[in-house]
This record gives sequence, structure tokens and C-alpha cells, in this order.
Amino acid sequence: MAGKTYKVAVVGVTGAVGQEILRVLERRKFPVGELVPLASERSAGSETVFAGKSQKVRKLEAGAFAGVDFAFFSAGATRSREFVPAAIQAGAVVIDNSSAFRMDEKVPLVVPEVNGDLLKKHPKLIANPNCSAAILAVALAPLHRAAGLQRVVVATYQSASGAGAKAMAELEKQVKDFAAGKEPRAEVFPHVLAFNLFSHNSPVGANGYNEEENKMVEETRKIFGLSDLNMVPTCVRVPVPRAHSEAVVVSFTKKISSQEAKALLAKAEGVKVVDEPQKNLFPMPRHASGELDVLVGRIREVPGDPLSLAFFVSGDQLLKGAAWNAVQIAERLITPDRKSTRLNSSHANI
Ligand code: NAP
Repeated sequence: MAGKTYKVAVVGVTGAVGQEILRVLERRKFPVGELVPLASERSAGSETVFAGKSQKVRKLEAGAFAGVDFAFFSAGATRSREFVPAAIQAGAVVIDNSSAFRMDEKVPLVVPEVNGDLLKKHPKLIANPNCSAAILAVALAPLHRAAGLQRVVVATYQSASGAGAKAMAELEKQVKDFAAGKEPRAEVFPHVLAFNLFSHNSPVGANGYNEEENKMVEETRKIFGLSDLNMVPTCVRVPVPRAHSEAVVVSFTKKISSQEAKALLAKAEGVKVVDEPQKNLFPMPRHASGELDVLVGRIREVPGDPLSLAFFVSGDQLLKGAAWNAVQIAERLITPDRKSTRLNSSHANI
């Protein structure tokens, strides 16, 4: 409806994802009539800026959702479990960035370019996938439609800001300490990340895979509706401030050439092909930072294996892996025919 505006709550507004949600709402000109910025008691009363105006952050509590149309949650799974029911009760549509409801079979887990049709039922609660899974899904979707996914082997190169604002600040401090000849210290991450890399900092489960790897498998299966998709992930944290990258080898049910794959990816929504072997120019986190689209390149055939392809992806995990995917879902709910037109300006604030 022309001119209609919405009351929008952002839970975890002071965090890495919460701040990015504000920037994406501005960037996409989402029709926000009133903003309700929420965080913990620690930051209640502090100021956050939205649409050029400073606003006071409020403490998250059940009563904060009165009259709210859309509530974006990004304050961790515990807060989502506790407060999402209150937001829904108050009449809000909730888009949750945490892992709390992702694997609940009643809750759609949505990447609009892949399974956006689930939004046609106007669910009251929509889960935003894990950042690595969302970025991977955008690249896999056009190839799956053409040739059918069978097996995915993926190694991730995950940035510091994937673990939040404090982790990002820790990487910066470690780099400065190195440069100043001081011994860097790790407090947020279990190991020093500067000039290093390590296996993802989530707990390792009984199956030998860490939590991040298990999330990637379960969530990719749910997003594609492929409950027995064979997947082998290895998730690694790298000293990159922002944007996750992934080296992927995919096997399909039928042959698809690298040229066909490149052509499909080039016209796929949410993908930008960066594949210039002559210049050795391929996706990089530095170029992916601030981009709504996921960058895909190094698209190669696998010698001796005609059913497989290899490629490399970089995507901004604060955007496609969190804030942009969430706002994109809200856009689709208010204007179902809106395509996610590209806004190219780099917009990274981390
Ligand atoms: P972050 O930078 O650490 O921010 C956490 C936010 O949660 C802050 O606003 C914090 O408020 C708020 N919070 C913490 N405890 C709270 C409480 N008891 N009550 C109310 N608010 C509370 O973390 P983040 O990276 O933005 O991640 C937020 C969520 O998004 C997590 O569930 C994460 O798994 C998910 N996610 C993150 C990414 C990413 O790339 N970072 C990607 C996808 C999904 P205070 O400032 O008051 O402490």
C-alpha cells in the first residue's frame, strides 16, 4: 500500500548484526515509521543513529513489542527463545537471526533467492539461516535447479566479525599489538587470530564436526528440502575482518559444464560472478564486504569426475548471512513482487 509505514523493532541493536540491520533498512529505504531499538540493560539509555536521527536504546522486555509490525532479533538464541513469543503475541512478524528456531519444523528457514516461496503463507516467525549456510545456498541454488545437488564438500574461511563486534575489535587490537611489538592476547576467541587461523571456535560434537559445521549441514538440507544431501564441511576462522569465503566442490546428479554453470550463475539473483583467470581476479572478502550479492568465481571442472564442479565464494556474512537476508525477507512480505535489485555502493561499516 503506497505510503504505508511500519513500526520496526531491532533486538540486539548495539551488536554487529543489529547495527547492520539499521544500515540496510536505510539503504533499502524500508518504510520504517517508528524504530524500537532494543538491547540489554547494559546499553539501555545509550544512543544509536537511524536515518540521521539519534535514538535512545531501550532495555529488551516483553512490553517493548506493543504495536510492532516487524521485529528483527539478533541478540543470541537465549534471548530469542525468551522474547520471540512475546513479540508474536503482540502481533509482530519476527525474523530471527539466531539459531533458536532454525531447525523447528514449523518455522520456515528462508533464503529468498532459494526458497522465498515459503513467505507466501505469511508466517509469523521466519528463521534466518547460519551465515555460512546462507552464502553457500545462494551460490548452489541455480546449479541445483539445473543439475540436482548430490554431494557438497566445503571448506570455509570465516571472518572475525562472524563472532560479533567484540571479536572484530579483538582482531584489530591483536594486529596493532603485533605491529607495536607487543604479544597479542586472545580473550574473545580461544586463540590469537591475527596472522593465524584456527578450526571454528564452536564446540566439537560427538560426530567429530563442530557446531558450525553441523549447522551448515542441517540447515543446507532444510533450505533445499534435501534431507539426505551428502555434505562434508570444514569450518575455519581466518584473520579477515568481514565477509566469509568458501571453497566448494559439488557433485550433481547430471553433468553440467563449467561454462554452463558460469552462465547460470551470471544471471542468478543474488550472485555476482567474479571469474577472470587472466587477471587472477576471483572473489575476495575485501570486495564482498558491503555487497548484498554473493561473489562466485574459480568455476572449474573436476578432472576425471564429469559430475562435479569446484568454485569459490565470498559473501558478506553480516549482510547476506544476517542483516540483508532478514530485511530482504521483510521486503518480500510487504511487496511480494519486489526483486532484490542491486545497490552497488560499498557500505561496510566494520
Ligand atoms: P554481538 O555483536 O555480540 O551483539 C550482540 C547483541 O545482543 C548486542 O546488541 C547485545 O546488547 C545484545 N544482547 C546481549 N545480551 C542481551 C540481553 N540479555 N538482552 C538484550 N540484548 C542482549 O553479536 P552479533 O554478531 O551481532 O550476533 C547477534 C546474533 O546474530 C547472534 O545470535 C548470532 O549468532 C547471529 N548472527 C551473527 C552473524 C554475524 O556475522 N555476526 C551472522 C548471522 C547470525 P548489549 O550491547 O547491550 O550487550
